[in-house]
Amino acid sequence: MKFPGGYKFKNFEGMAEPILRELPVPETVFIPLNEKGLINQTPTFTPSIEKGDTVRAGERLLQSDSEPLISIASPVNGTVTGCDEDGITISSDGTEGFEPVEGHTRAPWHLGREDAFNLSCSSGCILLFNDSFSSLSDLDRVKHIIINAVHNSPLNQSWSPGITGDPNIFYDGIRTLKVLFPESEIIIAVNKRNMKFFNTPEIKEHASAVILSGRYPQEHPELLSRDTVHKRLVSPEGVYDSSILLIQFLDVIRIAETMTRGRPFIDRILMIAGPGVSRPGWYRVRIGTPFEAIRHHLLKSDDYGPWRIVRGGILTGESVVSPDASVQPADTEISVIREYAVRDLYRFINPGFTYDSYSRTTAAEYIPLLPKQLDSNVHGGVRPCVQCNYCDEVCPVGIYPHLIRKYVVADRADESFRFRPYDCIECGLCDYVCPSKIDIASDVVKAKEEYHTRRREIEISD
Ligand code: SF4
Ligand code: SF4
Repeated sequence: MKFPGGYKFKNFEGMAEPILRELPVPETVFIPLNEKGLINQTPTFTPSIEKGDTVRAGERLLQSDSEPLISIASPVNGTVTGCDEDGITISSDGTEGFEPVEGHTRAPWHLGREDAFNLSCSSGCILLFNDSFSSLSDLDRVKHIIINAVHNSPLNQSWSPGITGDPNIFYDGIRTLKVLFPESEIIIAVNKRNMKFFNTPEIKEHASAVILSGRYPQEHPELLSRDTVHKRLVSPEGVYDSSILLIQFLDVIRIAETMTRGRPFIDRILMIAGPGVSRPGWYRVRIGTPFEAIRHHLLKSDDYGPWRIVRGGILTGESVVSPDASVQPADTEISVIREYAVRDLYRFINPGFTYDSYSRTTAAEYIPLLPKQLDSNVHGGVRPCVQCNYCDEVCPVGIYPHLIRKYVVADRADESFRFRPYDCIECGLCDYVCPSKIDIASDVVKAKEEYHTRRREIEISD
């Protein structure tokens, strides 16, 4: 047990291998258009196709309703079989080809800035920025670009920056960013194990690499911002600092693939890992691929399960329950763990060679040889808080979860504000280490929400 702020995960079953594979083109793709799907941001989009149309992968499927014209490409070759307010369904012909991006160029840094911006919009790359930019002057507000190449989550310990096999692609992505954001400082946040990749004269000419902690959740945006540019990304009131742009390493690669190689934005590179995955690793997956297709191609038989599919990381993701769920541009990770609802009998007398637990009664704590199990069970009932302070010690933002919880449970959340619940980044580590199985994080989040509600009320009354 060594946790002053953050946690180093080691040796879990189903960890991703640093290999990139491609999932077969699915039989159908579904692009939802509701608030949970692709079109969950401004500007709004309108379909450029109708039911019955034949489309090529890379051909425009949707376009923005306002300037600049942003296009979203069809992920597959096939026929549109549905197009309504819920979404677009395309029946794929199974072929892998695609239309190259119109106007792509091997060296977008030789384009003028405006032309590079227009290409980023017409190719859909602009949507990879977690911010909405509608003009060059919007880009000018960005002073710091932080590229996230840190990987510390339980299943993601061996990621490699050379995963795509193209040695120059990241450098091309950096140069493309530099054209779009000429005045911004570019910082690459890295794990020590990957530093060599970024330590080249070409990359150093445009960006600086900063080695950050190897403990989860260092890759969280707020911690990346704190530990690179020493600024808060989100204020206690919930306001984003728009001078900071955070972008994932693989999104820089995707921008370079689209703008410099002409591969349209038709797929995502996802980590698909966990004990339920037959070959855990990274996969190129067409956008709109149903989760059922992932289950069909990659999940182990239910004889070893059944399996719970989690969209996102194990500690923070959401269980996928809808049969219509499909891969969307915002997805980066899918975890598959054992659905294990039955409570173990006499767990307390089991030596626990493969359990991760903080009750200090498991053999894995002392003999950490076997991969630790991952499943959905909390392995025991909730017990009273024993004041062990593990949650305080593991919290990466230095707040006191168990004290905040006390006030929330007593229905006096406002008295917890002095312990800064608004700083919680919802990493889930306090739940993970609690020996009493208390769902502390959800109480801290309740206090955080209460804080924001009170602030809004004060603003309205002012
Ligand atoms: S209180 Fe929030 S930030 Fe701290 S460990 Fe719990 S979930 Fe993470
Ligand atoms: S909430 Fe859990 S981890 Fe925190 S002090 Fe209480 S028993 Fe320990």
